[in-house]
Amino acid sequence: MTTGDPKAFAQTPPEHPPYLWWAGRQVPWESATVHVTQVGWTAISAVFEGIRAYWNEERQELNVFRLEEHLKRFAQSIRFMRMAQTYSPQQLTQAIRELFRANGLREDAYCQPLAYMGRSVPGYLAADDVPSEVFITTRAAPSNLGSARLLHCCVSSWVRISDNVMPPRAKAITNYQNSRYVSNEARINGYDAGIILNDQGKVAEGAYACIVIVRDGVAATPPRSAGILESITLASVLELLGEMGVPVEVRDIDRTELYVADEAFLCGTLIEIAPIGSVDRYQVGDGAMGPVTRALEERFTRVVRGQDPGRSHWLTPVHESVGVGPR
Ligand SMILES: *Cc1c(COP(=O)(O)O)cnc(C)c1O
Repeated sequence: MTTGDPKAFAQTPPEHPPYLWWAGRQVPWESATVHVTQVGWTAISAVFEGIRAYWNEERQELNVFRLEEHLKRFAQSIRFMRMAQTYSPQQLTQAIRELFRANGLREDAYCQPLAYMGRSVPGYLAADDVPSEVFITTRAAPSNLGSARLLHCCVSSWVRISDNVMPPRAKAITNYQNSRYVSNEARINGYDAGIILNDQGKVAEGAYACIVIVRDGVAATPPRSAGILESITLASVLELLGEMGVPVEVRDIDRTELYVADEAFLCGTLIEIAPIGSVDRYQVGDGAMGPVTRALEERFTRVVRGQDPGRSHWLTPVHESVGVGPR
């Protein structure tokens, strides 16, 4: 690596953590290997979760955000693939907490459990109740909350997968090819992110995140039946907006509503809450982060940082051994 070249530095892959969790136990990173011939077809049925944990400096605690909900959705995704559940949510909760501890993460972090067909059964076989195998990785992932960076988006020419093609509500590796087409098209054409319409021509979501618009003080987002991934961040955000007194409509959204929205933002675990500055080069609002998005982001930040006692049940502490419920 050339020192002093920030680009070269940015491209250096992050150092791997000491451990991951695989097939029921914590193993050193280096020893979790599969044969190369098992890589391709096994991925067809692979499903996963993306989960964030936020560091609370004051309490020296790492809190996993909505772990119970993520593990519930993980189980649903495994079910869609007709794989048998090998590990209970309790086992996975324990595994994730122990893995975060073993990897010594004392900063904002990300955790990804991934389930695939076990016993080397290739994913192209129709096989009922094949036991799923699971591995879990963790890594540092600084939060972007408060950065106020605006996304310039386009509406993609690609159409979102529909429920009779590839269930959009499954968090499946293969579904991501649809998302990749969207994000690649957006990037190539000079945008930060793409927004995808569903087969009805209504707004579905961003490529990897859900979308909320604000018009005349009312927040709106597409329904679960619009071909969206049922986002846990979105569900959290809608609940917080309601509490903040912002009316919320769950309804179909037209493409041209994006062009006249006062505010719009993408939300999802990885991207968190990301304000949209323009869509198809139509400026959103006055081109800065709007008041509803800003207030929501502030509230969301307090929640994930463990500074909102009313929402402590959304957080699972990694270190604290008491007070962790049935999760
Ligand atoms: C994961 C994901 C989201 C966001 O869901 P969260 O539960 O908020 O992380 C949105 N869209 C797609 C396609 C996703 O895979």
